[in-house]
Amino acid sequence: MFSPNKQCIALISVHGDPAIDIGREGAGGQNVYVRQVGEALSRLGWQVDMFTRRVSPDQPAIVEHTPNCRTIRLTAGAAEFVPRDELFEYLPAFVQEFLNFQQQAKTYYPLVHTNYWLSSWVGMELKKFQKIQQVHTYHSVGAVKYQAVDQIPPIASTRLATEKACLETVERVVSTSPQEQEHLRSLVSIEGNIEIIPCGTDICKFGSVSRAEARQQLGIDPDTKVIFYVGRFDRRKGIETLVRAVGRSQLRGKEKLKLIIGGGSRPGHSDGIERDRIEGIVAELGMTEFTHFPGRVGEVELPIYYAASDVCVTPSHYEPFGLVAIEAMASGIPVVASDVGGFQFTVIPEETGLLAPVKDDAAFAAAIDRVLSEPGLGDRLGRAARTRVEQYFSWDGVASQLSGLYSRLLINQMAGEKTSSSANSVANQLSKELDRATVSGSK
Ligand code: UDP
Repeated sequence: MFSPNKQCIALISVHGDPAIDIGREGAGGQNVYVRQVGEALSRLGWQVDMFTRRVSPDQPAIVEHTPNCRTIRLTAGAAEFVPRDELFEYLPAFVQEFLNFQQQAKTYYPLVHTNYWLSSWVGMELKKFQKIQQVHTYHSVGAVKYQAVDQIPPIASTRLATEKACLETVERVVSTSPQEQEHLRSLVSIEGNIEIIPCGTDICKFGSVSRAEARQQLGIDPDTKVIFYVGRFDRRKGIETLVRAVGRSQLRGKEKLKLIIGGGSRPGHSDGIERDRIEGIVAELGMTEFTHFPGRVGEVELPIYYAASDVCVTPSHYEPFGLVAIEAMASGIPVVASDVGGFQFTVIPEETGLLAPVKDDAAFAAAIDRVLSEPGLGDRLGRAARTRVEQYFSWDGVASQLSGLYSRLLINQMAGEKTSSSANSVANQLSKELDRATVSGSK
């Protein structure tokens, strides 16, 4: 029977280091995804190496997460932070370092799962040197993102061309929502193989704290209405819309409100510019007294912040998936999200949360006010949200689907390499056994 036991696979995430603190400069959903998927796959029996670029000489070259899952930091260019739009020129060095690592470690990865377009380029280059099955997750699609930003960076044409080549040539693109699949088909290419496997979340960690306990820990009164945002400080995240929406809330002056905006680095980092801008708007709207910026929220505090909230707002201009929404939902907290991308998949309007048009302060204000004031609404949405996450978005469920995909690709490769009928019949037999194993494993 085919078994992933001890089978080495590589997850490549050039700019999203799975081993660093989430919430600071540029570190967000992709870092979480790679780390969680890697660890969950290792629990299923794969030997997982996650490759990223070293951004500081102080960083250890290897970080062990579980006995079968580690982060490996390759030196490609100077060991310093480089914004993702400026990383392309470092990629040939990254490919070379990957090949050197394989040679020194006397190992070989028959399957690589690349993340974001930069890593897709690395994967496609590696395929020129060795036989590899490449799986790719976009995390963000240039053709969609560039519609939602004011400034198109000089790297845009390279990115668009790489994303098209990737879709058309890799063995499988993993799309995290039907909306992303639709964007890929309508804006990138009609060629290539796409399979939908969503992102996930930790359904044990989120939802483990009671509201009373969380509020006691954070020193928040039981009767305060708490509106929560957490994530990167990036204009695309639409934090301004949230602030302006709360600024025009009908509940101001009638209820005790608290707006918590979590995430972001200390002053002096690149995301500090957006944080300063947002703090300026908060002050201009006279909201400083009830707005709190706790900075980066660590993994221990994060479930507490969600549990203490009455509503979580995710006002992104563009969001390929949006982990924060499903973390809030797993915590039993209703979400008010913008009506775009992955939120149209995760948040079912009027059932597990509410959707509002992008950048529409008035619509966000109305939705937030409804959740906070309509009797029973917040609790009803929160309960249904938790159920939806349990059903579709646990990391173990996601990893089990990815594991099945990897196994099928490796089996097909084996069958392709040996064209004799006996080899095909062995592969067919393996395939049947895998199907049986996947069905029983997914129960
Ligand atoms: N996050 C965190 N602490 C922070 C800010 C963000 O742990 O201070 C995490 C957040 O909980 C989520 C991820 O960063 O898991 C952000 O992912 P999302 O998909 O929402 O946004 P992205 O960063 O991919 O744009």
